[in-house]
Amino acid sequence: MDSAATSQLPESVISVMNKFMRQNNANIHRGQYELSLSATNKYEAAREVVKKWLDADSNYEAIFTAGATAALNQVIFGLKPFIKKGQCIVVSTDNHHSNFVGWQRLAREVGARLVVVPVHRNGRLDLTAFRKAIKDKPAVVAISHVSNVTGVVHPVNEICNLAQKAGSISVIDGAQAVAHLNVSLSKMKADFYAFSAHKMYGPTGVGVLIGRSELLQTMEPLLTGGGMITEVTEQKTSWAPLPQKFEAGTQNIVGVIGLGAAVTWWHKHSSQAIWTEEEKLTKYLLHQLSKIEPVEIIGPTDLASRIGVVSLKIKNLHAHDLAEILADQQVAVRAGHHCTMPLHRLLNLEATLRVSLGAYNTPADIDKFITALKIAIAKLS
Ligand code: PMP
Repeated sequence: MDSAATSQLPESVISVMNKFMRQNNANIHRGQYELSLSATNKYEAAREVVKKWLDADSNYEAIFTAGATAALNQVIFGLKPFIKKGQCIVVSTDNHHSNFVGWQRLAREVGARLVVVPVHRNGRLDLTAFRKAIKDKPAVVAISHVSNVTGVVHPVNEICNLAQKAGSISVIDGAQAVAHLNVSLSKMKADFYAFSAHKMYGPTGVGVLIGRSELLQTMEPLLTGGGMITEVTEQKTSWAPLPQKFEAGTQNIVGVIGLGAAVTWWHKHSSQAIWTEEEKLTKYLLHQLSKIEPVEIIGPTDLASRIGVVSLKIKNLHAHDLAEILADQQVAVRAGHHCTMPLHRLLNLEATLRVSLGAYNTPADIDKFITALKIAIAKLS
C-alpha cells in the first residue's frame, strides 16, 4: 500500500521489456541495421502512445526524461531566460519538492518573487489566494495535478485557464495523477505536464515532459551531448529539432518501451474499471479509518475530489513509530514528510502516515492494514 512511492509492474509490462532486452536490444536513431531500426520504431511508437493517452494534440510534443523530477528540472532550467527580475512565480504549498525547490532557486537567481499559495487543511487549494496571486500576472504557475500527501485532485483545468488569461506559463506535475485519472491535455491546456512511468505501472528511471512545441522550441536543453544536435563546429552548436533536442545521450530505451506497455495495459484494463475499484477501496478505507477515534485524515474525506492516497495523523503518536510496527506486520505504508516539507509545516505536522492504493489492492489489504494499525496504536498508547 505504498503505490504513490512506486507501483508494481503488471506481468505484461515485464514481459514486453524482457522480450525487448532479449530480442531487440539496440541503440536508437543511430544504426542503419534492422535491429536498430526496429528499436527506434518501438521507441517512437511509445511516444505516440503516450501522446494519444494524454490526449495531447498537435500543439504538444512529448520528451522522454529520467522521470518527473528530471522533466520539471528541464522546464525550470529552460524557462530561466524568460523570467525577469520583479516578476513572480506561483507555486502551491503542497507541491512536491521537485516542483518547488527548483522554482525557489530560480526566483532567487533572477530576482523574481516566489508566491506560495496555501492549501486548506483538507488539502484543497486556497482558490481565493490563488486568484489574488494570479492578478500579478505571474511568469509561471506551477501546481500539482494531484497531491502526493492529501490525494486531493486540484482543479487544473480552471488553474491553467486562469494562468493562460494572465499570460502565465502553466506547469502541471502529473506524477500522482496519471495512474488514477483520465488526463486530457487538449482540455486542460497546460503548457507543460510532467510524470514518471514508475508510478503508473511502468519501470523506474523514465518519465515524460509534455510541452507546447512552440515553448519547447524556444527553450534551452538542460542536457547536451550526443543525439541532440544538428551541427557542432569548434565555435558553436545547433540543436536538433524536437523532440531530439531534449533527449541527449543514450536514452532509457527499454524503460520507454515499458512505459508504452504500461499505457497499453492501462487501456486494456480500462481506466474506468481501475478507477471504480480504487474509488470503492478508498471509500472503504476512509470509512474504516473514521471509526478509529484518534485518527485525523489529512485531506478531503469525500471521494469526488480525491484519489486513493490517504495520509493521516494519530494524536500524540509519531508516524515513523507506527510505520515500523506496521512493517513488522508486513504492511507496507510510508511515514515522513513525503518530500513536501512546506505542506507539513503549514499544517503543523511533523510527519504523516501515508497509505496509497494501486490497482492490485483488495479489501483484504485494507482489513489487514486497519487491524495492524489498531495494534500499533494500542502498543504505542
Ligand atoms: N511529484 C509528485 C507529486 C510525486 O509524488 C513525485 C514522487 N514522489 C515526484 C513529483 C517525483 O517523481 P520522481 O521521483 O519519479 O522523479
